[in-house]
Amino acid sequence: MTSLGFIGLGSMGGPMAQNLVSAGHDVTAFDLDDDAVEAVSGAGATAASSAEAAAADAEVVFLSLPGPENVEAVVGAIEDGLREGSVLVDLTTSTPGTTNGVADRLADRGVDVLGAPVSGGASGARNATLSIIVGGERAVFEACEPLFEDIGEDIFHVGDRPGHGHAVKLLNNYLSNVALIATSEAVILGDQAGLDRETLVDVFSVSSGRNSANQDKIPDHVLTGEYDMGFKLGLMEKDMRLLSEFAGDQQIPMLLGHVTRDITGYAKTKKGYDGDMTRVYDFLEELMVE
Ligand code: NAD
Repeated sequence: MTSLGFIGLGSMGGPMAQNLVSAGHDVTAFDLDDDAVEAVSGAGATAASSAEAAAADAEVVFLSLPGPENVEAVVGAIEDGLREGSVLVDLTTSTPGTTNGVADRLADRGVDVLGAPVSGGASGARNATLSIIVGGERAVFEACEPLFEDIGEDIFHVGDRPGHGHAVKLLNNYLSNVALIATSEAVILGDQAGLDRETLVDVFSVSSGRNSANQDKIPDHVLTGEYDMGFKLGLMEKDMRLLSEFAGDQQIPMLLGHVTRDITGYAKTKKGYDGDMTRVYDFLEELMVE
C-alpha cells in the first residue's frame, strides 16, 4: 500500500482515484467541486479540505486537472508542503514546457516529477484500460509503474524529460481530432448525397480510411444521438491551443494543426465549453448544410 494524494477528480481523475483505492492504496483526495470529492470519498478515499492537505503526507501525488494554468496554481499551493523524496505525477494534458518547469523547480526540494498524460477517455478511466504516456527519469518511472498498472493497461516510457510525455500526448490528440473533423465532413457529405451514415462508417472503419472517429466516436456517440464521450469540447480546444504553442516553441510551422485548432475553437464557441467533443459533428453539419 502506498500513501497517495489525488488532486482533480473530474471525468478522468474521479475514476482513476477510485481505481487506486480499489487496488488497496491509501488515497487522500481533493477537488474544488465538493460533489466530486464526495463521490471518491464514498468509494473509500479520505476527503481533504485543500490541495495542500491532499499532498502533504503523500509518497506520490497525482494531478488530473484541466490544463497547465491549473497545474501551475496547484503546484504553487502544494510545493512548500511536499515531502522530500516524494513524486509528483501529472496526468493532466499539459504542455511540455510547463511540466519541465515544474520538474526543475521541485528538483530543488528533492521531489521527482513524471509527466504522465493518459488516453482512452472516461470509459478507459473507469475500466482501468488507459494508455499512459510517461516522461521522466527511468528509475522514477519504474518505481511508479505498479501504480500506473492500477489505472491503465498500456504504459509507455517515452523519454527522460518529464515533458516528453506531454509532447507525445499533444501529438496524439491532434491526430485524434483531425480524424474526427475529417470523418465528420466525409459522413455529412455522403449523407447529403443520399448515402446511409451507418453504412459509410461501416465501410470506412474496415477500409483504408479507418480511424478512431469512424470506428468509435461517430457510430457510438454521434449516430446514436448520445454525444457522451465524456471529453469536453473546451478541453479539446485547449489541447489544440497547447499543440500550437508547442509547435511555436519548436519553431515548426503546422498548417493543418492551426486550422484544426480554429475549427475546434469555433465549435467550442457554438456548442459550449462543456459540450461533448463529438458535437463538432453538429457544428460542421450546421456550417455545411443549409
Ligand atoms: P474535468 O473538467 O472533468 O475535471 C477536471 C477537474 O479538476 C474538475 O473536477 C475541477 O473541479 C478540478 N479542478 C480544477 N482546478 C482545480 C484546483 N485548483 N484544485 C482542485 N481541483 C481542481 O476534466 P477531465 O475530463 O477529467 O480531464 C482532466 C485532464 O485529463 C485534462 O487535462 C484533459 O484534457 C485530460 N484528458 C481527458 C480525457 C477525457 O476523455 N475526459 C481523456 C484523456 C485526457
